Amino acid sequence: MANKADIRRKVLDQINERRLDAEQTAKLHGDEIRRKIPEIAELDTFMESIALRLFDGTRRDSMTVDQLGEQHKKIRKQKAALLQQHGFPTDYTQVKYTCEACGDTGFVGYKMCDCAKLAMQKEAVLSSGLGSLIEKQRFDTFRLNRFSIVATAGKISDRARMEKNVMLCREFAETFNRENPPMSLLMIGKTGLGKTHLSTAIASRVMERGFSVLYDTAGNILSTMEKVQFGRAEEDAQQAYFTADLLITDDLGTEYTGKFTASALFILVNTRLNHNLPMIINTNLDPMAMEKKYEQRIFSRFFGEFTVLPFVGSDARMGSS
Ligand SMILES: [Zn+2]
Repeated sequence: MANKADIRRKVLDQINERRLDAEQTAKLHGDEIRRKIPEIAELDTFMESIALRLFDGTRRDSMTVDQLGEQHKKIRKQKAALLQQHGFPTDYTQVKYTCEACGDTGFVGYKMCDCAKLAMQKEAVLSSGLGSLIEKQRFDTFRLNRFSIVATAGKISDRARMEKNVMLCREFAETFNRENPPMSLLMIGKTGLGKTHLSTAIASRVMERGFSVLYDTAGNILSTMEKVQFGRAEEDAQQAYFTADLLITDDLGTEYTGKFTASALFILVNTRLNHNLPMIINTNLDPMAMEKKYEQRIFSRFFGEFTVLPFVGSDARMGSS
């Protein structure tokens, strides 16, 4: 995950580039027009001289500032008419900024423009590990109607269960904060039932609300920690797993587990929970398999300090998981 300063620099560079592009295009259009429509070249020269007179404090001519301004306006109109006559849009030679509010500088006064803030959020999403998923996997694109409404004896229907999950996930995303964060989530269930979809939807919303989110597979996270431990990677490589406001760990259970990874997982979960930094963990393992695979101390943290969301139903993956 890129840090905030890197993201800010990247975004401001992009906006700057956009401004230079816009100005360059306007300049080229101006040159083109003066070449193709000589009358406009004359008007431009005349306009320049008027502008010079306006700003010349020592001028002694009889025209008032208002009169000069009027004349300026008149020429602008003539110019627009000429452009139109020759089949060009009247604003052809004007600089067209992508963001009118800041003129593609990224700032309005000393404050960062909304366009830059939005771009920073988008960039944070892209560097979160979620990339293209985020566009498709939102709360409003989660299809509940693929889950059965049939309730078997003593149990609620799959649909009702999944409705509850969606509700809890939305609540998690909407109430996420640093001071009093929601309880971590453990999503349990077979592949294709929507764990990734709902985690992505949460990630997107939590990032939109200004928090840092990191999304990675358990396999990647643990192997990175292993590399750091054995000096094959810098400490920085694992830093974000411990410090992101929200860490989403996908596919727990598919990673290779040796002695090191088991204790690394405990350190990660333990450190984050002790620092009040929530996690979302997704796993295809059922509780029994989890108990077998992980140490008791990890298992009891999962089932004592996470909200457990069982994902139920038959694998109805239709371009969504
Ligand atoms: Zn702007």
